[in-house]
Amino acid sequence: MRCCAITEFGQPLQEIDVPTPEPQGDEVLLRVSACGVCHSDLHIWEGHFDLGEGRKADLTGGRELPFNLGHEVVGEVVAIGDTASGVSVGDKRVVFPWIGCGECDVCRVQGEHLCARSNQVLGVYRNGGYADHMLVPHGRYLFDYGDVAPELACTYACSGITAYSALKKVQKAAERGHLMIIGAGGVGMNALALAREVTGATITVCDIDESKLKMASEMGADNVINSGEKDAPKQVRGLTDGGPAAIVDFVGAPSSVGFALRTMARGGTLAIVGLIGGSMPLSIPTIPLTAATITGSYVGSLPEFEELIALARAGKIPEIPVDKRPLGDAQKSLEDLKAGTIVGRAVLTP
Ligand SMILES: [Zn+2]
Ligand SMILES: [Zn+2]
Repeated sequence: MRCCAITEFGQPLQEIDVPTPEPQGDEVLLRVSACGVCHSDLHIWEGHFDLGEGRKADLTGGRELPFNLGHEVVGEVVAIGDTASGVSVGDKRVVFPWIGCGECDVCRVQGEHLCARSNQVLGVYRNGGYADHMLVPHGRYLFDYGDVAPELACTYACSGITAYSALKKVQKAAERGHLMIIGAGGVGMNALALAREVTGATITVCDIDESKLKMASEMGADNVINSGEKDAPKQVRGLTDGGPAAIVDFVGAPSSVGFALRTMARGGTLAIVGLIGGSMPLSIPTIPLTAATITGSYVGSLPEFEELIALARAGKIPEIPVDKRPLGDAQKSLEDLKAGTIVGRAVLTP
């Protein structure tokens, strides 16, 4: 099979041919038709996360090279192991990649996506979809996406589920009437598209890129604000009575978290999703004095994915812009993502 693989961390991906795996036991082999390019691919490719103050988390362990990135995958089942269940050859499916050990308390109670032991996540520890074929360990991780376009359906596996799960975490706070989304990149746009299904709130989108704000407006944001402008916090507070009570930060940098905490209403909830990185001083008394809730949100659970795909199949999620590219453009796509020049989601179509 053909793949665009990491052969050395931080070095350009190599387009190489490797033997196509044969599914054993419960495994399912997919022919990949679409694979989204995600910001976390960039971190794995670089081999580290920035933790702030010059500290870096090493991401080079846990996987063998050459390694195929890609955890937003749609494909057609082309072979199954002798005990595989839930799918047949010819089925077209979107993959839930956030696979845990399935045995620990976290897996059983909160979901496999939060498993601390797992080395099974597809495209992160196991080979993913920057290739024309990919193995999935069990049919229960495969979902029928109906009439949704494959290049759109694949984005639900990370960008979509991340947006959906984060919105659910601020759903209660959004009942106060106002939701603010920080960051109008791929995930932020997915959140904007989903927000009307999850909340009835007025939606404000903030970004520092005017072209992204324009697109957010076209996609139905009630207000867009350039958070790079000096009086942006004042503009946000002016839209609401005391600031938005529900905020999702899809950037995850000191500037975006600081902006959120300066504008959030008392008793509000901030969900931090973005992983740009860094650290910041936090005024501890303001947390109790404003009764703020700050929560992290990491991808989403298998049941949430099932809900999301059901919404998509029912035509309840407006389409986000997708930029289709050949597999050979994987490296260029990572670089474009790093430069912030992609509007919507880049999707490889092997
Ligand atoms: Zn991702
Ligand atoms: Zn587990």
